[in-house]
Amino acid sequence: METTTLPRPPRVGLVSLGCPKALVDSERIITKLRADGYQMSPDYAGADVVLVNTCGFLDSAKEESLEAIGEAIAENGRVVVTGCMGNEADVIRQRFPDVLAITGPQQYEEVVSAVHNAAPAAISPYVDLVPEAGLKLTPRHYSYLKISEGCNHRCSFCIIPSIRGDLVSRRPDAILREAEKLVEAGTKELLVISQDTSAYGVDIRHHPRMWKGEEVRAHMTDLARELGKLGAWVRLHYVYPYPHVDQVIPLMAEGLVLPYLDIPFQHASPKVLRSMKRPANEAKVLERLKNWRSIVPDIAVRSSFVVGFPGETEEDFQYLLNWLEEAQLDRVGAFKFEPVSGAAANALPDPVPEEVKQDRYDRVMQLSARISAEKLAAKVGRTIEVLIDRVDDIPPLEEGADRGHFDAPHPQHHHGIGATGRSKADAPEIDGEVHLRDAGNLNPGDIVSVRVEDSDEHDLFGVPA
Ligand code: SF4
Repeated sequence: METTTLPRPPRVGLVSLGCPKALVDSERIITKLRADGYQMSPDYAGADVVLVNTCGFLDSAKEESLEAIGEAIAENGRVVVTGCMGNEADVIRQRFPDVLAITGPQQYEEVVSAVHNAAPAAISPYVDLVPEAGLKLTPRHYSYLKISEGCNHRCSFCIIPSIRGDLVSRRPDAILREAEKLVEAGTKELLVISQDTSAYGVDIRHHPRMWKGEEVRAHMTDLARELGKLGAWVRLHYVYPYPHVDQVIPLMAEGLVLPYLDIPFQHASPKVLRSMKRPANEAKVLERLKNWRSIVPDIAVRSSFVVGFPGETEEDFQYLLNWLEEAQLDRVGAFKFEPVSGAAANALPDPVPEEVKQDRYDRVMQLSARISAEKLAAKVGRTIEVLIDRVDDIPPLEEGADRGHFDAPHPQHHHGIGATGRSKADAPEIDGEVHLRDAGNLNPGDIVSVRVEDSDEHDLFGVPA
C-alpha cells in the first residue's frame, strides 16, 4: 500500500518572564497553540520557533528580557517576542534585527499568528480537533484544553496515529494548573480535547500526581472531577464509550461536569464498525445511553457519523438509521466517506458510488434534523442556563421586513440589544445556539437564566428569566 510521510507537528519553545499576569498570557497562548496542533519543546534545540514572553516593568526586567531574547537568538535563531517589552519594539529591533515578530502584551491573536507564520502547522480537517477557527483565538470565556497527544488506535480511515504517533498523556497536575490559570483569567468553560479522551493516562499507567495536597490519577474520571472543582463549565469531547465512561455520569449529576458527551460513534452497524477498526465498538451503547439518561435526564449526546464507508450496504445504512431513531442523540454531524491519503481504508473493496453517498447523507441529515427539532421543542417553556458568547445590537426593522422568530410572539421587540449564547447542551461552533432578546445588560462570558420561548431544528430562542 502507498505510504505517505507526514510532517511531525511543529514545536514551540517558551521563555516566560515577568509577573503572574504575563504567565497567564503565556498559558493562553500555549493553550491555543496546543489546540492548533503544536507541541511544546522543553529546550531550544528541539524548537522550531522560540517564543519569549517579556517583562518591561523595571529597567532590570527589561535588561533581563533583552538577555533572554539574545540567548534564544543565539541558541535557536527563530524568535518571536511578546509581552510588555513588545511595546518597545524599536529597542528590541535595534539590538536583535533578526527577531521574526514582536507583539505587545495581551495581543494573543498576533502572537499566535506570528507563530503560525514562523512554523506553519499542517492544518487538516482530518487531523485537527478544534472546529475550523483558523487563527482566530477563542474568546476569553472559553478555552480548549488539550490533555494528550496522539492515539493508540488504528481506525482504518484515520491517519492521525501516523502523524501524531501513539498516545502521550500530559501530567494531570500540569493540565490542572493550566486550567486553573485559564479560569483565573476569565475562562468560564473548559473544553477538554484529545484524540481519545477516555484513554487519557493509559500510556502513563494512570500515574498519580499531587494536586492541592491530594493524589490525582492520570485518568479521565479523576481529571474531570478536579477540573469540575475549578468552578467553570467542563465539557468533554471525543469520549469513546469504554465501560469506565459510566463513572463520569455521576459527576454530571453532581454538577461538576456538564451533562454533555461528545462521542464520535461514526457508525452503528457492527460490520461497518469492525471494518473501520473502531475502539469500544462492542459496548451495548443503546442500553448504556438509556442508563445514563436515567441518572442524568438532561444529558446531551453529540456524535458524528460517516456514510458511504467502503462496503456499507443499504442494509448497514438502514441499521444506522434505525439505531439513530432509537438512540435519540441530541446533535448529529455526518460526513461522506472520503479517502485520506495514507489511510488503510483506501484499499478496502466495494467503494460506495458518490450519488449513493449523497443520498445516504441527505437521509441521515433529515432524520437527525427531525430528532433535533423534537428535542429542542421539548425545551420550550423551560428555564435554562445560558453562557453568553456575544451581544449584538439589533437594528430597527424596515417596514414589512420579517425577523422570523422574534417577530411572531413579541412584535414590540423589533429593535434593541440581543445576545447569542449556548446552553449546557451546546458546544461552541459545532452545536446550536440560544438567541436572546432584551439583553441590554449582558456581556460575553455571563451565565444567565433564560426562559425558552421558541425553537427550530438547531437553535433555541428566549428571554432572560
Ligand atoms: S480513535 Fe481512531 S479516528 Fe480517533 S484518532 Fe485514533 S485512530 Fe484516529
